[in-house]
Amino acid sequence: MTLQELSVSLHNCQRCKLAKLGRSQVVFGTGNPNASIMFVGEAPGFNEDQKGEPFVGAAGKLLDKLLESAGLSRAQVYIANVIKCRPPNNRDPEQDEVETCKPFLLQQIEMINPKLVCTLGNWATQTILEKKVPITKVKGAAIKLERFVVFPLLHPAAALHQGNLLETLHEDFRKLKAYLDRMDAPAVQPAPASAASASPAAAQPQLDLFGS
Ligand code: URA
Repeated sequence: MTLQELSVSLHNCQRCKLAKLGRSQVVFGTGNPNASIMFVGEAPGFNEDQKGEPFVGAAGKLLDKLLESAGLSRAQVYIANVIKCRPPNNRDPEQDEVETCKPFLLQQIEMINPKLVCTLGNWATQTILEKKVPITKVKGAAIKLERFVVFPLLHPAAALHQGNLLETLHEDFRKLKAYLDRMDAPAVQPAPASAASASPAAAQPQLDLFGS
């Protein structure tokens, strides 16, 4: 199955109660289907539900600026959410909704095959890490999983609601940029005198994010 076929197969999804709780449409995801970097948010809000695209409201405008600050554009990355339908009144997703929709997020990730998945906020981070870890504990640093690296970030909407988090979010995007710059650097490393003298970091293979 292709990403497009998966999207079409979910057009009229009725698998969970959100189908009957006022959603206008399924918001599957947008961007480069061959992206090296994927961003995962929580759930569509009002604007996303209307437009059928993730992050097109106020949080999306902030995300656009943050992406730009990290040298990224929407066209370059792929953006999706943990759950694909708007919960009523933008309430938090419920466990059964996450459990129902999660396989489709995992399928998207498998098909796009990004090297880096940036999770925005607690829901995306805990869903991808499969661990109930607070975002504040893990944000702003790379975590290596088997198939890709996770880079948790605060959710842009959280920074819009709590202005004191805005600078932290900008700072974490600076860390993301530094990480991307490091990963994109040519893999020139001095040969260690012996394997035993190589530091664990130096022994790790370079992660070539952009296939260059
Ligand atoms: N918040 C999200 O988590 N996702 C969106 O698509 C928009 C706002």
